[in-house]
Amino acid sequence: MSRFIPLSIPNFEGNERKYVDDAIDQGWVSTGGAYITKLEEKLAGFLHTDNVAACQSGTAALHLSMVEAGVRPGDVVLVPPLTFIAAVNPVKYQFATPVFIDCDDSFCMSPVKLQAFCENECSFDGNQLRYNNQPVKAVVVVHIFGNMADMVAIMDIAQKYNLKVVEDATEALGSKFTAGPLAGQYAGTIGDFGCYSFNGNKIITTGGGGAVTANNTKVVDHLRYLSTQAKNDVHYYIHNEVGYNYRMTNLQAALGVAQMEELPEFIRRKQANFQLYCELFDSFEFGKMVGFRDDIDSNMWFYSLEINRDKVKNSMRDIITALEKCGIQTRAIWGLINEQIPYKNEVTYELEKAPYYAKRILNLPSSTQITKAEIEYVVEQVKKVLGDFAHG
Ligand SMILES: *Cc1c(COP(=O)(O)O)cnc(C)c1O
Repeated sequence: MSRFIPLSIPNFEGNERKYVDDAIDQGWVSTGGAYITKLEEKLAGFLHTDNVAACQSGTAALHLSMVEAGVRPGDVVLVPPLTFIAAVNPVKYQFATPVFIDCDDSFCMSPVKLQAFCENECSFDGNQLRYNNQPVKAVVVVHIFGNMADMVAIMDIAQKYNLKVVEDATEALGSKFTAGPLAGQYAGTIGDFGCYSFNGNKIITTGGGGAVTANNTKVVDHLRYLSTQAKNDVHYYIHNEVGYNYRMTNLQAALGVAQMEELPEFIRRKQANFQLYCELFDSFEFGKMVGFRDDIDSNMWFYSLEINRDKVKNSMRDIITALEKCGIQTRAIWGLINEQIPYKNEVTYELEKAPYYAKRILNLPSSTQITKAEIEYVVEQVKKVLGDFAHG
């Protein structure tokens, strides 16, 4: 079988080459240049926020947020167990302690369990929440696969307990609430900090790259300052803080500006393809498509099929390998972060949904270039593989 349908690949149908050539022709390839500012302005306009700092990666955006939130050695940060590990590693970069809070059926952090943890496991003196006498400083909320966490409830809890909210919107560029008190607000613009990623598998890409925003324009300026080695004076090399080399390059930004022009079309295709998958898997006995919240307009970045474990007992590895043989690239949702070696001794709080979904979710091809015929083929093969396994 020569056919190969990849999981999620970049799409360069627009002005990418033109802008990258232009950046090279002008000689601006590093951390200075007009495309960086242009990308920041485009992102701010798209997100209806007034200031965005472009940086080297989503991970850098998350780390800068941790630093700016004042997370220090010995502090506690509340984090999700079922996501990409880059959402949690910055807690360790700051020598702080993660505590894992379960997700709900959206795969995002459960506000019910977050509240219960703060209320039942911590002490609160009206100003500082403490767990085991360690200050609880922040919560990292990931908007998984373009879905959104219950931000109304989470912001409420964060306000009550004085927690900084870091939104990991690396997978949710373009997702926004359409109803309720946050109607019109985009993922990443609700908490204290919002982080985006332009890695190769995300909805837009700059090769590698990211961006960070905050609910205060001066804070974003400070994040940008930290990302450029905290340089106070460009001529005399004065540095008043410890900075980072986290600034995006002009080459990356040139790609990013072209990708931003295409983002609405990418979202439209992701949404149409998701609908097609849903129709084709409708009333399938051995698996069902997992939807997105009703009160959002989601970018529908990544697609999840929940496998019926009463019928299909085979491991994810078996399923993925069988599909690979048909030329279809799929993957399992992540291994739980709290089970990874660097995190296996950390505290977890009532994990129940996260391990449940870790065993059940298969991610399906979701590139913006995928054709209708390819989706039909994927669904046909998935049905065949799961059907064969179910019937032993
Ligand atoms: C991709 C991703 C990141 C990291 O982004 P990079 O740009 O690869 O550093 C962080 N968190 C989540 C949930 C992601 O999916």
